[in-house]
Order: sequence, then C-alpha cells, then structure tokens
Amino acid sequence: MTNIAKNLRIVREQINLASQNAHRSVNDVSLLAVSKTRNADELREAFQTGQRDFGENYLQESLDKIALLSDLDICWHFIGPIQSNKTRPIAESFHWVHSVDRLKIAQRLNDQRPAHLPPLNICLQINISGEESKSGILPERLNEVARGVFAMPNIHLRGLMAIPAATDDPALQRQPFAKMKTLLAQLHEIAPTTACLDTLSMGMSGDMEAAIAEGATIVRIGTAIFGVRDYSK
Ligand SMILES: *Cc1c(COP(=O)(O)O)cnc(C)c1O
Repeated sequence: MTNIAKNLRIVREQINLASQNAHRSVNDVSLLAVSKTRNADELREAFQTGQRDFGENYLQESLDKIALLSDLDICWHFIGPIQSNKTRPIAESFHWVHSVDRLKIAQRLNDQRPAHLPPLNICLQINISGEESKSGILPERLNEVARGVFAMPNIHLRGLMAIPAATDDPALQRQPFAKMKTLLAQLHEIAPTTACLDTLSMGMSGDMEAAIAEGATIVRIGTAIFGVRDYSK
C-alpha cells in the first residue's frame, strides 16, 4: 500500500473513533482531502482508495488539476482566499466554496454560476477567534450577510467554515468550535424554510478530534493524508 492510501486509512479510522467518542454517526462527518501543492497523480492515488472530495486553495493550480483529472468523478471544494476578480472560474469549475467571507463575493459567484449547473454550495467563513489578520465574517455581522445570501438563487448556503487560532491544547481547541455550533444554530432561526443548513466545515490535521466533538460535518485534512507540504517545489 502507498503512503497516501495508508494515511487515508488511518485518518478515516481517526474520524470513526472521534465520531464514536462524540456519540455521533460516522456518516455525519465527511472527509475533505486538502490537496493544495499536491500533483494530479497524488490526487488520483487518493481517489483510488475511495476519496471523492478534494479541497484546493490556489486557483490556477486547482484549475490545472481539475483539467488533468476530468476523467474522475471528483467533488471539488474551493477553500482558499478569494479575490473578487477571480470569482468566475471558481463559479464555473467548483461544486463547493468554503471561504466566502463577504457579500460581494457571494453576489459575484451567484451572478457567474453557469445556468446549466446546480446552485453552488457555499459556506460563510467566520473569523471565529477574532484575529485582525484573518479573513472571515465577524460573528456579529453573520446574520446580515446570511440574509443577503439566502436571497441568491444560484447559491445554496450550506453552513459555516472557520480556521481558529492554532493551539495544541485540546480543551482550548474546542472553544471556537463550540461557538461555531452556536452560530449555526442561530442561523437556523433566521433561515427560510427551504434552507438546508447542514454544514460545519471545521477541523484540520491538528484539531480534527476537537472539531468532531463540537459538531463538525466536514473536516479538512491535508498534512495527515499527504505529508508535510513543501512550498519550495
Ligand atoms: C491547508 C488547509 C487545510 C489543511 O490543513 P492541514 O493542517 O494540512 O490538515 C485545511 N483548511 C484550509 C482552509 C487550509 O488552507
């Protein structure tokens, strides 16, 4: 077995265990393989073990891989920072966008989503640790942004995403994830009856267990699957 296949098996076991510990069904937590900086062959290898969802951060790199892997039935998630002049290819090529951090971006994705495709699934990214340097919507602004997004016909608001401030302490890791769970519950209260708010995209290689304990439905895992990234390549 290759390293990627082995690592995927270990990560899936960790998700199973964390779900059991949280008294949650393992079917409620899905694994997004974060494949930034990885080449198309590495993704193909992961696909062969059954992995279907891949997350990408850099637009040009991801478009290259989407073209190279067009023979595979992959669900593509954009999870990186979005410049407003780059929304069109994202609206055209992705199934999900996790990193929508302002209304203007949602509006552009809505306007540029091709008519023959289903609505684009999005998460609103929340600046949950209140870090000035981080992107994301501040919790107190969430409802206002969400109301705007609910009105967009080509956007399907699925939930919330966050990248909390890093810490190794499991107890501290859980606090921002717990806040995310509360925010999603608040969003349910203002959502139209047709909404399907079923997603908390949170948890990475270093804090996956804590995220699952607090209700993550998508964990975004890169390093634990593909190894440490080498940006010099
Ligand atoms: C890179 C990245 C991940 C994966 O992080 P790892 O620590 O490698 O698991 C998850 N989410 C986002 C938004 C990322 O940019």
